[in-house]
Amino acid sequence: MTPTPDADRSNANAEPVTFADLGLRPELLSALTGLGYEEPTPVQRETIPPLIAGRDLLGQAATGTGKTAAFALPLLQRLGAGPRGKRPVALVLVPTRELAIQVSEAVHRYGREIGARVLPIYGGQPIGRQLSALDRGIDVVVATPGRALDHIGRGTLPLDGLEVVVLDEADEMLDMGFAEDIEAILLSTPAGRQTVLFSATMPARIDGIARRHLRNPVRIHMGREQVDPGQAPLVRQMAYVVPRAFKTATLGRILDVESPAAAIVFCRTRDEVDQIAGTLNGRGYRAEALHGGMTQEQRDRVMARLRAGTADLLVATDVAARGLDIEQLTHVVNYEVPSAPDSYVHRIGRVGRAGREGVAITLVEPREHRMLKTIERVTKQKITVEKVPTTADLRSRRLELTRAALEESILEDDLEGFRVVVETLADKFDVMEVALAAVKLAHEASGVVADDEEIPEVTSSAGRDGREARGDKGPGSRPPRPPRGSGAGMTRLFVGAGRSAGIRPQDIVGAIAGETRLSGRDIGAIEIADRFTLVEVPEAAADEVVAALKASTIKGKKATVRRAHEDR
Ligand code: AMP
Repeated sequence: MTPTPDADRSNANAEPVTFADLGLRPELLSALTGLGYEEPTPVQRETIPPLIAGRDLLGQAATGTGKTAAFALPLLQRLGAGPRGKRPVALVLVPTRELAIQVSEAVHRYGREIGARVLPIYGGQPIGRQLSALDRGIDVVVATPGRALDHIGRGTLPLDGLEVVVLDEADEMLDMGFAEDIEAILLSTPAGRQTVLFSATMPARIDGIARRHLRNPVRIHMGREQVDPGQAPLVRQMAYVVPRAFKTATLGRILDVESPAAAIVFCRTRDEVDQIAGTLNGRGYRAEALHGGMTQEQRDRVMARLRAGTADLLVATDVAARGLDIEQLTHVVNYEVPSAPDSYVHRIGRVGRAGREGVAITLVEPREHRMLKTIERVTKQKITVEKVPTTADLRSRRLELTRAALEESILEDDLEGFRVVVETLADKFDVMEVALAAVKLAHEASGVVADDEEIPEVTSSAGRDGREARGDKGPGSRPPRPPRGSGAGMTRLFVGAGRSAGIRPQDIVGAIAGETRLSGRDIGAIEIADRFTLVEVPEAAADEVVAALKASTIKGKKATVRRAHEDR
């Protein structure tokens, strides 16, 4: 991460910095310890001190960098310890309902000991519930722009107490057609407010907003640093894109297929380290946890077991693994995308030493996809996105291991003592049947764990990039019809407004994502004709989308919305 000269911050690669060094309040520090966070990420190191000092900030950072805590902690720092007024002190604008919920949960977790009152407001939820919460008194509102404007129009979201406004994932909000809403909201907020803008990309339109609404902002830029290609070790680098709920299952399956001789699995927090080590032990691995919450004596014991070969997996945080040199490592696994490219390079540098083959595996949540691209760009190395092994892949890999073990036994072991068993059985059964039963028992004895969970396949174009995949190139574009079969489980809806009403794909995406529980990536092909638009949505959500769109407006106008007649 590179601060520009006006960022007046020291550089990101300095000595380890703690959360306490950043000037955070004790209640926030203890909440972070409780969550198992060990040290600030580079974005947090660069962002938190200037935000606490009251500066405006323009930050280029993708999901996975820790940007949410980077803006949430400083705004929580402002909340008084005593009784607080009813009016919100901070407003965070986010592109989707999904993100509104996630960000408000994060703010709530960090602000628990401060007693922060946080409210997500988004379309698709009864407005009455939001109204009564606002009326009881709220400190931080996390809202989608459409619904925020709705409340402002009704006079139910008071803005005069606002000290901070955050635009999170600003590029995504613009792509979804929220530009005018954002301008209107910013113009209604107090002129003396602090404004923070985070965006994964910095198109000219974001610069425009920054110029109009930010005052002499500190600028930070994630992923501008260059890693010397010689610095990045030559290891086989792979990534698996999986939804969060399936990550643990995916990790177990990948380890089974790769069967590493010795591996280190990196996690972000202490709690995760403990949880993953427990899960892997349950799967038959000898996994050891290592994190900063352990005493030196406990750590020494772990390291001794690893060196003695009585443990084959180490599950660790960055902090705990710093300075460890484990000779025999063959695999590095990132349970999450590291928070910065240099952390990735540092982690994978632990394998592939001295001419040995090394493997680096990264699990990526769909919304962290962009972070993977940043790492590839900075390291100038390709990370291949692989398909998660299926249960069939796993089964054939396990059978292969059993076959190899039997072959080794045939070649190496003295089997004479078992001859009598085979001969006796051969009187009654075919020798092939005897062999099959023996293989089955040997296979089962190797500690096979039942694993028949279906792990959904996520295409690498998921997340924000899904827009590009739909051919959404802006006003007036006609995305091509989807190839046959791409719409499995999808239904086409008819919206009675099209190009002649100025409708663009992002208006449709914005309306759906703002008013329903769907996010941009759930929406399929969008076809805009002069007088109408056809949009693909998941069948299971079709009725909800129709009802929500009927109840709201698209580009300020009511439109007919219904299921499309497919014989059109
Ligand atoms: P974000 O980039 O804000 O979406 O954050 C990505 C993930 O990192 C979230 O799951 C956070 O809980 C986690 N996280 C953020 N900061 C830290 C930190 N300093 N240490 C460990 N985990 C963190």
